[in-house]
Amino acid sequence: MNKDNKKLGLDTLAIRGGISRSHEQEHSEALFLTSSYVFDNAEQAALTFANERDGNVYSRYTNPTVRVFEERIAAMEGAEEGIGTASGMAAILCTCMALFNAGDHIICSKDVFGATISLFTKHLSRFGLEVSYVALDDLDAWRAAIQPNTKGLFIESPSNPRAVVGDIRALADLAHEHEALLLVDNCFCTPALQKPIEFGADIVIHSATKYIDGQGRALGGAVVGSKEHIDAVRMFIRAAGPYMSPFNAWVFLKGLETLRLRVEAHSAGAMALALWLNEHPKVAKVYYAGLPDHPGHELAKAQQKAFGGVVAFEIHGGREQAWKVIDSTQLLSLTANLGDAKTTIVHPATTTHGSLTDEQREQAGIRDSLIRVAVGLEDIEDIKADLELGFSAI
Ligand SMILES: *Cc1c(COP(=O)(O)O)cnc(C)c1O
Repeated sequence: MNKDNKKLGLDTLAIRGGISRSHEQEHSEALFLTSSYVFDNAEQAALTFANERDGNVYSRYTNPTVRVFEERIAAMEGAEEGIGTASGMAAILCTCMALFNAGDHIICSKDVFGATISLFTKHLSRFGLEVSYVALDDLDAWRAAIQPNTKGLFIESPSNPRAVVGDIRALADLAHEHEALLLVDNCFCTPALQKPIEFGADIVIHSATKYIDGQGRALGGAVVGSKEHIDAVRMFIRAAGPYMSPFNAWVFLKGLETLRLRVEAHSAGAMALALWLNEHPKVAKVYYAGLPDHPGHELAKAQQKAFGGVVAFEIHGGREQAWKVIDSTQLLSLTANLGDAKTTIVHPATTTHGSLTDEQREQAGIRDSLIRVAVGLEDIEDIKADLELGFSAI
């Protein structure tokens, strides 16, 4: 494919981006299950090891199947370069290890994935990375949290699970005023709905495990950004190990081909479900940016093509009632994964956000009455009927 991807549409990039055929002229992307690569002679080996010649050395550094995935996701996000990682968390870890140093400070939204908070607070802090947490939608708080050693701002938008929306352009401007980077975890939207780089973000991170796979099969992640930044991440991964498996890259390539169609269908289902929940007498509050009265609605409309597949809601009651609703459903899968064709239901306070302290959970707004549904691709009437079974138990 032409290297100048700028003129191609998202669907074309999702299907043809990054393709490089082997000498077999295969039409579908080849799966290269090989740990290492053979050189023609010792000089070629020496040059390739020294990075003075393009070529594969070992599948902890590069792999042709993973490479197609990297070029494709980078093109779809409008980024110069990309790298595949073993998981979404590996993407976040490797980005921080490559781009930050002991003594640096980062500001993170309170409303990020639970494991991201654990990674920053329990682990990266032990290596001297300072972290402050602020509310995603409070720009003044972001500005006030800036320190002389602030090197990065980290967000997810919309957030998990309450769909708080962050102003990507304003946060990118704030970061750049202070020579810091804006990092966006774009897992919930994917480039099918939102391209943070267009709004000034420097680094976009993915858990490919979610919508990019789309069928709940494989773990993986990606980081995209400038060549300089991604080269640094690659050097860290080369030394540390958490590169994407070629088999998983092959699964994700197939996932990307149908990404937009699926994410649009997930979003349409979630919108219908949110409207229904909003009218339901057993439901106290619905968190979905597609609802006109959601505080992030206008901003989400400006940044996103649709509102995504995740709907969270509070029921009247507490943990006991929430568990009863969940345990009384029969169709929905009780599992923390999302971005799957199968609709999933989970109680965030005791699962995905269970390792947070009570205070961190309170700050993130994860109440005991909160339930998260990641709408799959089943008939929406069947999803509603199943939740109705749950509601009738309380
Ligand atoms: C799942 C998820 C991650 C972590 O991804 P893994 O592939 O499970 O490591 C990070 N961020 C968000 C928003 C997620 O939903």
